[in-house]
Amino acid sequence: MLQPPPSYALAVPELRADPLTGELVLLAPGRAARPHTASGRAPTAAGPTRCPFCPGHEGDTPPEVTRVGDGAPNQPGWRLRVVPNLYPIVGGPDASPGATGAHEVVVFSPDHDRSFGRLDDQGAVAALTLLRARARALTADGHAYVQVAVNEGRAAGASIAHPHAQVIALDFVPPAVEAARARFAAAAADLVLADLGRAADAGGLVLTRPHATAWCGLASSSAYEVRVCGSDARPRLVDATDGEVEDVALAVRDILRSLGDLLDDPPYNVVVNESPTSDAAPSHWWVRILPRIAVAAGFELGSGVLVETVDPTLAAAAVREALR
Ligand SMILES: [Zn+2]
Repeated sequence: MLQPPPSYALAVPELRADPLTGELVLLAPGRAARPHTASGRAPTAAGPTRCPFCPGHEGDTPPEVTRVGDGAPNQPGWRLRVVPNLYPIVGGPDASPGATGAHEVVVFSPDHDRSFGRLDDQGAVAALTLLRARARALTADGHAYVQVAVNEGRAAGASIAHPHAQVIALDFVPPAVEAARARFAAAAADLVLADLGRAADAGGLVLTRPHATAWCGLASSSAYEVRVCGSDARPRLVDATDGEVEDVALAVRDILRSLGDLLDDPPYNVVVNESPTSDAAPSHWWVRILPRIAVAAGFELGSGVLVETVDPTLAAAAVREALR
């Protein structure tokens, strides 16, 4: 009996392991086509009506740690400003053992609406340079691990809309970092360059600069995830050369701008992955850009297996196109 041609095409899921992140990912590209009612653009953080990171409101934050630019401490005139987080996840005078450390906020610009992707060259490089300086200072203070991250949009965990980064210094090495060390040691190879090489062979390269490269990992776990690394294998951001800081900053800035155009300003996380402060073992710090256009659902939460709905090589092609 003749069957009518199907009006749908069944996607073919594929299980991929990610040697760099240790994650197990089900690539299910067909799911990106399923009906959506939620928009990609998440509302910006509601937050207080009076922004504590805007110039003139310096008294709304704890006394500043340092600044770039002009003016007296805790007064306007700054271009970038570092303050302790008012609601730290670690540190503070009363922290219990294990929860000691430091939690700082780096405000990228006096402009309330200028996210990292909209910074000019000088502003983007100054931001990553200041993040490296804070990571160096917190390393010198003897903390075990320093993490640098940017959260943009409420769905990505940002509670204040004014663009900023978090620098969190822990007095212990977190399990995910220990696991990454173990993967690097077991591989006896540069897992970051290996991931980059596999992606490049499959058409997943996004951009190259003299001291930085960006690509979509073939087993990335978040739609339109982009990875960036400096040209040389160094364990931490604090070890990066000025040339690498400059090229990584500009690469991340350009990718965030392109993802904003492509995905209608999605919420996102930018996470610097690096070694513990005292670890001399070979490693390669890298930056993970994670647009948050999907939410981990029950399957992911219960199984630990992540679902990727956009083929990474197609994502890379779309980001390359948006970069033009
Ligand atoms: Zn503001």
